[in-house]
Amino acid sequence: MTIPTPVSHPTPLSLLSDASSRLEKALQYVTLSKDALDRLKYPKAGLTVSIPVRMDDGSLRVFQGYRVRYDDTRGPGKGGVRYHPNVSLDEVQSLAFWMTFKCALLNLPFGGAKGGITVNPKELSRQELERLSRGYVDAIADFIGPDIDILAPDVYTNAMVMGWMMDQYSIIKRKASPGVVTGKPLALGGSEGRDTATAMGAFNVIKTLLPLFEQYPSNTTVAIQGFGKAGAALASLLDGAGYRIVAVSDSQGGIYAPQGLDIPKIRSYKRDRQSIQSLYCHDTVCDMGEQEIISNEDLLKLDVDVLIPAALENQITAANAADIRARYIFEVANGPTTSAADQILDAHGVLVFPDILVNAGGVTVSYFEWVQNRNGLYWTAEEVRDRLATRIVAEAKATWAIAQDHKISMRTAAYVHALNRLGQALDAKGTQDYYNQTP
Ligand code: GLU
Repeated sequence: MTIPTPVSHPTPLSLLSDASSRLEKALQYVTLSKDALDRLKYPKAGLTVSIPVRMDDGSLRVFQGYRVRYDDTRGPGKGGVRYHPNVSLDEVQSLAFWMTFKCALLNLPFGGAKGGITVNPKELSRQELERLSRGYVDAIADFIGPDIDILAPDVYTNAMVMGWMMDQYSIIKRKASPGVVTGKPLALGGSEGRDTATAMGAFNVIKTLLPLFEQYPSNTTVAIQGFGKAGAALASLLDGAGYRIVAVSDSQGGIYAPQGLDIPKIRSYKRDRQSIQSLYCHDTVCDMGEQEIISNEDLLKLDVDVLIPAALENQITAANAADIRARYIFEVANGPTTSAADQILDAHGVLVFPDILVNAGGVTVSYFEWVQNRNGLYWTAEEVRDRLATRIVAEAKATWAIAQDHKISMRTAAYVHALNRLGQALDAKGTQDYYNQTP
């Protein structure tokens, strides 16, 4: 068994400076005690582990894994586990920071956490992936739990992986522990609607906010970067509602058709062939009409109404922000826009709807799954859908109202809203002012 090595000292926000600059902006509009601010500058705890995995050819490979709990004042840590070659402690810390604010923004009784393994899962067999996933849980088992820190899917992890993780934790603890992982297969205690929850949440936010600018399905063109779990499901929802999706892409590249793309066809093609770009003039999709092959970078610069980055972080940066022609950006990925890019977009009048609001549907239904696991009583798909819509629409409207009141960006408003809740929770344990008062 791997012995967990604690990170020598949690790294302060220096590497998260981009994320923390958002916090600084929001602070002007929040009354937050200095104590609370000091607490939020540092991740609460982090674990770096080595995970030895026996490969199918008999060799041994050792992978690096991480779990960071940023803050758990409002409840147990909550956040996904990412499998990606670029996963690093810095990235996991930033993602855990965002989870903290996302959970507070949606008023979920959770703190923020995140995990990851530095690996390209596409290079592993299914058996190797299972051994890696179980090995990760072996290594972090003492650091997580249904009341401590709850795992979930993220980039390149799915329900199958969550099932293995929950099973491994239950084996270690010698008792069924469904509440330690969310995003599990339905048959293993998963929730209805969790697989499409991120997309459904984003769809609700888009449907609520776009009409404020007189953008309706009939007069709105959309480009989506990323055709994974969230991007593809959102493309279907928007397409079904009548929005014109003119461009989509995946890690290999994308396609563009000003007259609109045939989303159901692309989804079935992608399911069979894995990559969208190979879809260009191949087999039956050639009859889909005029399409142009574009790169991920080109997609970001298209002349569309709505741009939806739904892949990875740092896609819209100071280098390309001035070239963005979309008027509205809905961030489905975590951290797709850097803070330098935010300023440029703002100056160009592009409205950015931030990740911690737009993609919060996933963790919201994770919360519902956790509640169902603890109660042993399961909800219908309709119940899940309605509860998600009610919650995320209310928080989207509240965030919009804060933005209007203070004349600030939606991003800053989202941090203000989340900080108000986080600050209250942190201050409820006592502040300098409280202790200095005579009883
Ligand atoms: N990985 C997702 C996110 O970034 C979901 C997290 C969760 O369900 O805990 O929001």
